[in-house]
Amino acid sequence: MRIIIIGGIAAGMSAAAKLRRLDKEAEVVVYEKSPHVSFGACGLPYYVGGFFDNEAQMLARTPQQLIASGIELYIEHEVLQVIPETKTLQIKDLKAGTIKEDHYDTLMIATGASSIMPPIENLNLKNVHTLRSMADGKALREALRKPEVKRVGIIGAGFIGLEAVEAAKALGKEVAVFQLEDRILKEVFDQEVTELLEAELKAHDVALYLNSKVTALRGEGYATHIVTENEEIPVDLVLLATGVRPNTAFLDNTDIERLRNGAIVVDQEGKTSLPGVYAAGDCATVPHLLKGEPAYIPLATSANKLGRIVGENLAGNHEVFEGTLGSSCIKLMNMEAGRTGLSEAEAESMGLDYKTVFITDKNQTDYYPGQEDLSIKLIYDANTKILLGGQVVGRKDAVQRTNVLAVAIYARLTTKQLGMLDLCYAPPFARTWDAINIAGNVAK
Ligand code: FAD
Repeated sequence: MRIIIIGGIAAGMSAAAKLRRLDKEAEVVVYEKSPHVSFGACGLPYYVGGFFDNEAQMLARTPQQLIASGIELYIEHEVLQVIPETKTLQIKDLKAGTIKEDHYDTLMIATGASSIMPPIENLNLKNVHTLRSMADGKALREALRKPEVKRVGIIGAGFIGLEAVEAAKALGKEVAVFQLEDRILKEVFDQEVTELLEAELKAHDVALYLNSKVTALRGEGYATHIVTENEEIPVDLVLLATGVRPNTAFLDNTDIERLRNGAIVVDQEGKTSLPGVYAAGDCATVPHLLKGEPAYIPLATSANKLGRIVGENLAGNHEVFEGTLGSSCIKLMNMEAGRTGLSEAEAESMGLDYKTVFITDKNQTDYYPGQEDLSIKLIYDANTKILLGGQVVGRKDAVQRTNVLAVAIYARLTTKQLGMLDLCYAPPFARTWDAINIAGNVAK
């Protein structure tokens, strides 16, 4: 058996490592376009901001370690084409410039996603950055350390753009954020939460341009202004963070089923519509526990989990991934926020009969130092009161409380059960009725 995996980061390497452990006989082959494997891009904003300096800390394993474990690894090799009829790949050795063919018995596609380049004029100016690869991170880190770079313009207020705000502020920069929509993180959090996060940005003097369509960058060689439909704002550096697109164009010659954005559709085993071909990670959809249809939620959490399941299945098993809840979180200056399950916007678009509550309580007792507000939103079925979604925001302990809500949704708890759930209490950590209990009790 020759099992080939295309892409050697979160999904691909989770699969390769699992498969190698389970099947000592098969040939496990990985083709990776970049010079790195097992690279944790999630660390990039903090590397850029100088929270740590050794980029090797973002690499979980080296190519040498993987080769020593018995994986046939080819870095700096790009798969140009998959020919399913003959189970053949066409591959370019990017260093030598040569092209070769390889043959697979089963295949996994784990090619991830790339930054979207939106239709904005002059994106090729020299001080325009994206943040996805190690090379992107190094270039942005270096550029932000130039003393002449004082004003940073960030286009896109999703997770990556906003994590970059913290990096730029940590380096003492003036920051302006441009968002096409009327609020930040619109696809992730409901308005009650984003209002609090926006207030935090403003409290840290981040200029927020909402409903703001960037049409062009202006400058000779370097961008000096971000041009929107209404104004021109001077900048010394631009970061584009307008989302990602699955790296699946090299499959255009096949009839593999994909969503409109190019994400490969997979089932709970990670199988695609092509026989013997699996996929996982940012290049693919992920089964969703509540939506009943595959979703595109490009996160390291799902890439690792479905990647490992695919590794099991490449070894001949039939493991299933029960599904994601889209649990995700962000630290934004001194605030943190997490979400899990369905947002209200999602429940509404699914036509569900739902109710919501939004409460503001405290993270702990007032007599122990460090008490902070903690706001919780619950989305639940109007009839059964079973929890559908939750969002928590505050300065302390919001994200770990979101994890409690993820378990509650997974276990199909009702709001009444949440209200009585036996959560920990000691003065530094909570009050006798945890904020989660309070939210559950309010949600009738
Ligand atoms: P990728 O990591 O994109 O890896 C795919 C690999 O495939 C790439 O190395 C690419 O070179 C290679 N490849 C592509 N095409 C080919 C080809 N044709 N031939 C050979 N190789 C190819 N997620 C979270 O859950 N939490 C976070 O806090 C978080 N923070 C993030 C911060 C940043 C700045 C970024 C960029 C991402 C963050 N993510 C986070 C998302 C997370 O990094 C991704 O979900 C995860 O990396 C996906 O893994 P993957 O293996 O699917 O794809």
